[in-house]
Parts: sequence; C-alpha cells; structure tokens
Amino acid sequence: DTVLLLQQVCKSYAVGTPAETQVLFDIDLHLQQGEFAALIGPSGSGKSTLLNIIGLLDRPSGGQLIMTGQDTGNLDEARLTQLRGQAIGFVFQSHYLLTAFSATENVMMPMLMQNGRPDDRMRERAQYLLAEVGLKQWQDSLVGNMSGGQQQRVAIARALALNPPLILADEPTGNLDTKSTDAIFELMRKVNAEQHTTFLMVTHNMELAERCDRTIELVDGRIAPSISTST
Ligand code: ADP
Ligand code: ADP
Repeated sequence: DTVLLLQQVCKSYAVGTPAETQVLFDIDLHLQQGEFAALIGPSGSGKSTLLNIIGLLDRPSGGQLIMTGQDTGNLDEARLTQLRGQAIGFVFQSHYLLTAFSATENVMMPMLMQNGRPDDRMRERAQYLLAEVGLKQWQDSLVGNMSGGQQQRVAIARALALNPPLILADEPTGNLDTKSTDAIFELMRKVNAEQHTTFLMVTHNMELAERCDRTIELVDGRIAPSISTST
C-alpha cells in the first residue's frame, strides 16, 4: 500500500518578488506502508521545506502530492487540516508539548481536537500509549518536570494518539545523549514493526540513518541518486 506519493514536487519561496528562489526541484518520492525512511542532507538542502510540504503544513509550488490515496492539490484548507489530523503524526524536536499539563493530558490533546470533550476512553488510550513508550509510572507527571528523553517519549505517544499511517519526525533525537537517542530510535522502530506505521525521520545522525530501511538524501533541493544502506 502506498502511503505517500510525490510527483515532480517543486517549491519556491517569495514567488513573484525579486527575492524568488526555488528550493525544491522535481521531487519524486514514494513511501510504502511500513517503511522506515531517513531523510538526510546538508543544512539548507531543503529537508524542513520538504517535511512541511509532506506534513501538509505548506503547499508545493508545483507537482502532485497524494496522501493515503487523496490528491491534496484540490483540497481547501479545512480539508487539508482534516487530512493532516487523520493521516499524520508529528514528532518535532521543539515538540510543542504543553509543559504545564500532565503526560496523559498531552497525549489526549489530539483526541480532544478531533472530538471536543474529554472522556474515559481518551484517557485510557492515552495511558495505554504512555505505557507502550515506557512511561507508565510518569503518566500523571507534569511534562515540564520530565527529562528530554522522557518528553520525546510523550511526543511519540501523542503522535500515535489517532493511530496515523504516517509519522514525520524532525530530528527526534537531536538534543538527546547517545543512550537516550538509541532508546527513542528503538521505540520508533518498535512502533513501526508492530503497527506498520510508516516513518519519515529527518536526521543528521548517520549511524541512525544507516539503521533505517531507506535513506533519502537531499542535495541542493534535489533527491540525490539513491545510496544503498543495506546489502
Ligand atoms: P534544511 O532543513 O535542509 O536545512 P530548509 O528547507 O530549511 O533546509 O531550507 C532550504 C532553503 O530554503 C534554504 O536556502 C533556506 O534559506 C530557504 N528557505 C527556507 N525557508 C524559507 C522561507 N520561508 N523563505 C525564503 N527562503 C526560505
Ligand atoms: P533521559 O532523557 O533521562 O536519558 P530516557 O527516557 O531516554 O531519559 O530514558 C533513559 C533510560 O531510562 C533508558 O534506558 C530507558 O529505557 C529508561 N527508562 C525510561 N523510562 C522508564 C520507565 N518508565 N521505566 C523504566 N525505565 C525507564
């Protein structure tokens, strides 16, 4: 099953002004259900721009983006927001967790945004997900009191709240030490293996990239000819 298909996607900033610059060129990308892919490339190569486009946070300037079978080109903002909520979980480095709320409340947040009122089922699912990421004893702790690695676990549990087919992770281990990096990566691989969630992870950590199924490298806004990470 195809989760994500990009065909000839381009992106320019400041279109129609003297500052217009093209930062993505003819991006073709196909992610299958269950793939765990690393997105790598030097600073300024377009990784964040591409992740924002795939996350339906920004629109391409050209080309096609098909998310879980839906051509996003014809969707208005409201439909895009709806599709984003259904299809994508985000694990970003600045994870936008609510530090004055408990881990459970943070994980309930996406469910609340879909359904309005908190109920026991949401709370139970949040607690189940926190147990899955190894935070059972911390479920009622304030996120602001947790370590960086624990906060990243909360962010992963929150990304899983609505059981999305695709998780986008922007340097999810960027500010963690080696041991925590390893633990967070293994947790994502576990989710990937057990739930067949597709992952696209931006990383500068080449050792982690080599442990992914696939490496997609951006150079100057283009996908570099593929390099094999295994076999
Ligand atoms: P990376 O994430 O790989 O560091 P980015 O996607 O952030 O790359 O940036 C790619 C290029 O696009 C860079 O040259 C950057 O300066 C430019 N860029 C990023 N965002 C904007 C913006 N909002 N307006 C204009 N140029 C931008
Ligand atoms: P830190 O940011 O403090 O390094 P991590 O959450 O990455 O925190 O965890 C560090 C270590 O603690 C890991 O080996 C992890 O397996 C262990 N750990 C984390 N949460 C729990 C938990 N709820 N119960 C037992 N061990 C845990």
